[in-house]
Amino acid sequence: MKRRRKIILTRKPLRAKASPDDGCRILTTWKAGHLFSPSKKLVEDLRAGEIGEERYKDLYYVFDFPYESDIKVWIQGLRDAGAEKITFLCYCADGAFCHTHLAIDRLLRDFGKYFIDGRKADG
Ligand SMILES: [Zn+2]
Repeated sequence: MKRRRKIILTRKPLRAKASPDDGCRILTTWKAGHLFSPSKKLVEDLRAGEIGEERYKDLYYVFDFPYESDIKVWIQGLRDAGAEKITFLCYCADGAFCHTHLAIDRLLRDFGKYFIDGRKADG
């Protein structure tokens, strides 16, 4: 039986040049309404200084991060499609606080048998 390779997970600023190396590019801004998108309110509250990064992180994981069952369906879709690499896209620059890092961190922690971290040290 063929052993499946883990899917590489990374992120990139939306404005950075697209590359074939990005693999499957997934827009995850709040407007995109993707499974891993933050809510509009969360983004606005952070921008307005109503909440800090730690609070954003807590709220994102509690209210915006998908249920395990939905994540499992998403992962199955990726595997069925033969995805080798996923690049989450957001407006935030590399190295900046961004929900894409929160999503990747949690996916690696809870679904580490399917993914490896493809972020660079400065990403
Ligand atoms: Zn971001």
